[in-house]
Amino acid sequence: MRFPSRETVEGVRRQYPAGTRVELVSMDDPQAPPAGTRGTVTGVDDTGSLLMAWDNGSGLNVVYGEDSVRKLDSVKITCYGETKVWDTRKDAADFFFQGMCETEGSECERYTKIYAGLVKGLTEITDEELPVCPKCGKPYKERPALSRKDNKTYICPDCGTLEALEAVGASEEEKKAVMDAIHDV
Ligand SMILES: [Zn+2]
Repeated sequence: MRFPSRETVEGVRRQYPAGTRVELVSMDDPQAPPAGTRGTVTGVDDTGSLLMAWDNGSGLNVVYGEDSVRKLDSVKITCYGETKVWDTRKDAADFFFQGMCETEGSECERYTKIYAGLVKGLTEITDEELPVCPKCGKPYKERPALSRKDNKTYICPDCGTLEALEAVGASEEEKKAVMDAIHDV
């Protein structure tokens, strides 16, 4: 057997970081778990093989170039303060859709919000209420800034930066350059 190049192995490492959830397609080994078995990648060795913790307890590697797996469409959902990684978007969508149908009021709203995120294709979803910036109207996660205009309104960090730039007379172009730099564009 020929070993893959270092670049190829690095590529496999990027594609399957530890923690990636996968499903077995085929494995050329009499002791292989059945096709469709799910498992978690724990690492990639120097031959490009995936080191595995299969859900059925098996620890057989996925040999580069011989065996095959597919990545699961997993999503990370936080609900009522608990974070769980779902193997597939479909499993999660079925669960939260049912939750939506069977509950009322604020509980139903929570499930609806998560379900909407699943339909939109988000990979990380939370039911937590994020503060909304009164200046730009967008929800934000980071620590808020205090508006210079009245010294009591909390605004998002981006708007805080823009206000600071306005205070020193920055042009629109300069403001855009700074925002691009912050957001790594
Ligand atoms: Zn804002």
